[in-house]
Amino acid sequence: MKNVKSPPPSRRSNAAPARRASARQRSAYKPAEVEEIFRRFSVQRPEPRGELEHVNAFTLLVAVALSAQATDAGVNRATRPLFAVADTPEKMLALGEERLRDYIRTIGLYRNKAKNVIALSEKLIANFGGEVPRTREELMGLPGVGRKTANVVLQMAFGQAAIAVDTHIFRIANRIRLAPGKTPDEVEAHLLRVIPEKYLFHAHHWLILHGRYVCKARRPECERCVIADLCKSPEKTCDIPAPLVELPPQVIPVTG
Ligand code: SF4
Repeated sequence: MKNVKSPPPSRRSNAAPARRASARQRSAYKPAEVEEIFRRFSVQRPEPRGELEHVNAFTLLVAVALSAQATDAGVNRATRPLFAVADTPEKMLALGEERLRDYIRTIGLYRNKAKNVIALSEKLIANFGGEVPRTREELMGLPGVGRKTANVVLQMAFGQAAIAVDTHIFRIANRIRLAPGKTPDEVEAHLLRVIPEKYLFHAHHWLILHGRYVCKARRPECERCVIADLCKSPEKTCDIPAPLVELPPQVIPVTG
């Protein structure tokens, strides 16, 4: 399945309010160091992509809503056959909650998630002509859609420079003291403040992929890290950065 193509970066319209929020803790990095961190991420992955499969904004919204407490690979395994039969709110309603549950029963909390997907499909049809709305406020008014889900949809479907703070981003921001914060909202505001504007659009995916594949939760793989010399984490185990080369194209995981 093809991902929705991201339009070119615009755009801070939705990012601005959060960016103005003051962060309580300071970043451990000078602006030139942050610039260098993101320059290296941009060399490694010039066009980073999210790993949730989708074919349009609606299926992206559903996939993100299903991904809470679940791996992207697990969600992709369930949504491939689901989206083949239900890629619009109308088709999702026609499928019905019971059959939807059968498609997603391998995903944690599937009963609640099925309820929410049906309810959000109804609301999209009733209030938005079956289209996914383009503002954070409207998205967050949909059943089961929180700030993180709304930010992913804004970034991936509508090309807005939003940062959805998931477990990886929250960990990295605090672990390496790039944008420390006690809550996802604090980290989001802090990241929006410290990341140079030209890197903001892709920052969300660079940080997630760095956290998923290198700066892992249990044991960061510092010997494979391109920012090991810059990193100020007390947990780091290596000062020598890995060679800075462009990585092979991402493969969307469906196992594991
Ligand atoms: S050096 Fe280690 S702790 Fe620092 S960002 Fe890289 S992987 Fe994470």
